[in-house]
Amino acid sequence: MKFVNEYRSPKIAQEYVAEIARITTRPWKIMEICGGQTHSIVKYGIDKLLPAQITLIHGPGCPVCVTSVDLIDQAIALAALPEVIFCTFGDMLRIPGSERKDLRSLKAQGGDVRIIYSPLDAVKIALQNPDRQVVFFAVGFETTVPTTAMAVYQASQLEIENFSALVAHVLVPPAMETILASSENCVQGFLAAGHVCTITGYEDYLEIALQYDIPIVITGFEPVDILQGIYMCIKQLEAGIVEVENQYSRSVSYEGNQTAQQLIREVFETTSRQWRGIGMIEESGLKLRDRYSKFDAEKRFNLKDHQTQESSDCISGLILQGIKKPTQCEAFGKKCTPENPLGAPMVSSEGACAAYYRYRQLVFS
Ligand code: SF4
Repeated sequence: MKFVNEYRSPKIAQEYVAEIARITTRPWKIMEICGGQTHSIVKYGIDKLLPAQITLIHGPGCPVCVTSVDLIDQAIALAALPEVIFCTFGDMLRIPGSERKDLRSLKAQGGDVRIIYSPLDAVKIALQNPDRQVVFFAVGFETTVPTTAMAVYQASQLEIENFSALVAHVLVPPAMETILASSENCVQGFLAAGHVCTITGYEDYLEIALQYDIPIVITGFEPVDILQGIYMCIKQLEAGIVEVENQYSRSVSYEGNQTAQQLIREVFETTSRQWRGIGMIEESGLKLRDRYSKFDAEKRFNLKDHQTQESSDCISGLILQGIKKPTQCEAFGKKCTPENPLGAPMVSSEGACAAYYRYRQLVFS
């Protein structure tokens, strides 16, 4: 297959659906990690096409959803400073912090919050506004880390004094291990996120598969990708085999993008990070290395660590760990809607609650 249409072909999809039904003899629970895959699954009704024995569980792969409330509050506090131009991806604007404040309302009240499409745009804005402080909100999994690393590296090379990053980057493998190590875990196979592995490769996944005795299939985002990933995963489960397989070979290689990895290593080191709704996960985040610490917004603005509370109605932590589905949240579609979100998964473009609200409204109407 060469073109995107083939990955959306109803005929090829039906063939995989039939093959999955043919080889499935027992109940299996498979987690798709990435929120983009969750949206495809719900949008195309892939879960409805599978045999009743197969349950798809939605994982923690929405970077916007897992950014801690503390960091959202820090972002809002920074964006409120008159000297700051606060640069962020559009997805972050409506994510509620504590007291349900968000960057969009701050912008409406006159805060200089700008939506950008690349961290390098923030560097450009810093060059164009030498009298202002430009802060980039660096959110995302391994996929978006290289461009943040490039922005910091470029700011360093150009000796830009008015650029910094509020770093919220998180890593997928430690989250997978947290889920697998939990006493509530019921995941038996993983569809790993193809775009993350495009950067990282999949050496780390081999260790996880062997340690936790669980098949992992690196999978893409189109309907046929996902069905093929499920088929490969079920095949392993039914045969009692544990391997890491690569369905997304048109983009992912074993060793990943080495140039990007080198740049990430130059700029960042790992750190423990708080995940929204889940809690602290050891070595699951990235922070700037000491030699780049002058670009760390937390240090530059002397932001204080503070603990804030999630809305008690929001069960996003359980949803992000695959323990509950969005429709099992009592607030879903009632107290919590895209217009009036209680939690990040209802407004993020990769959020599971947003996917169910958008594509499965009949469930609650
Ligand atoms: S529906 Fe709303 S309140 Fe419930 S888990 Fe999702 S984001 Fe949180």
